[in-house]
Amino acid sequence: MNASIGGSRRPSAPRTTRLTVRLAVLASTVALGAVGLAVAATPSSAATCNGYVGLTFDDGPTSSTSALLSVLRANGVRATMFNVGQNVQGNPSAARAQVDAGMWVGNHSWNHAHMTSMSQSQMQSDLSQTNSAIQSATGVRPQLFRPPYGETNSTLQSVASSLGLRQVIWDVDSQDWNGASVSQIVSNASRLQAGQVILMHDGIQNTRDAIPQIMANLSSRNLCPGMISPSTGRAVAPDGTPPPTTPPPTGTPTTPPPTGGCTATATTPNVWGDRYNTSVTVAGASNWTVVVAVTAPQRISTTWNGSPSWDSTGYVMTMRSNGSGNTFGFTTMMNGNSSARAQIRSCTTG
Ligand SMILES: [Zn+2]
Repeated sequence: MNASIGGSRRPSAPRTTRLTVRLAVLASTVALGAVGLAVAATPSSAATCNGYVGLTFDDGPTSSTSALLSVLRANGVRATMFNVGQNVQGNPSAARAQVDAGMWVGNHSWNHAHMTSMSQSQMQSDLSQTNSAIQSATGVRPQLFRPPYGETNSTLQSVASSLGLRQVIWDVDSQDWNGASVSQIVSNASRLQAGQVILMHDGIQNTRDAIPQIMANLSSRNLCPGMISPSTGRAVAPDGTPPPTTPPPTGTPTTPPPTGGCTATATTPNVWGDRYNTSVTVAGASNWTVVVAVTAPQRISTTWNGSPSWDSTGYVMTMRSNGSGNTFGFTTMMNGNSSARAQIRSCTTG
């Protein structure tokens, strides 16, 4: 179910950028304004993640990879793309777009052959060539390997392992390759349990159309899309940490290290599907400097009631009082990591 791709239809990058900007503006407007409107504007169903599932899309990149990425981004999904080497070589910009959109990329062989009938050296050369094409297109070295058709044997597994590739099959088959309807794909995906992985494909319209309903179902069960751990092959939180045993705190005070003569206390008054607000109250000083960090790939998109500056990574913000009082706030885009919350690193006077 794949073909070599020679086309170059990639019209969606600028549109995606504008969408992101528009969402950031919306978040900003909402954060400064009425909270009630914010809830109305964005469903809040994905507020907590009690577990993660791995959404995987095989056989790309294809001529409709950009359409798939648009749907995934619009639904706040990060997924794993098992790419075919020759498709990457034929369309490296589409592979790069996957990574730019926050997807993980894995190895799905050079040309989707039945690999169990290969010799060990053929397997080795097939997977190496694919790794090289993916790395050269994306800058990322794959750590995951899905054998075509799920066909494997011990030789193939050991070859993959020698190249640093963890073999990943699937727990749930969406049947999208088999002509499944949108509702059948949604129904199959509804069987996913925490830690499990589902097989889907790049290049299938029904699959793209199913994504919003798949996400709604997962959210209703407090499951979130995660990454596939290269060490266990199971779905885990996007930053590699295991799923929390209890829901992450919302509206619960964070205890900061008491340094430098003031105390900063963070609460999380609002959590939506794609972002959350943090409110920080400073005690013990009116002229203060508070350092806050978020966990990649989260990003602070908007702040209020303070003067922010940033370190070179963009993940650490230094907020200084600006005469607006002792409470400041900010909005953090989750970018697929819905469990982490902003941390206060220090509070100093002056
Ligand atoms: Zn395949």
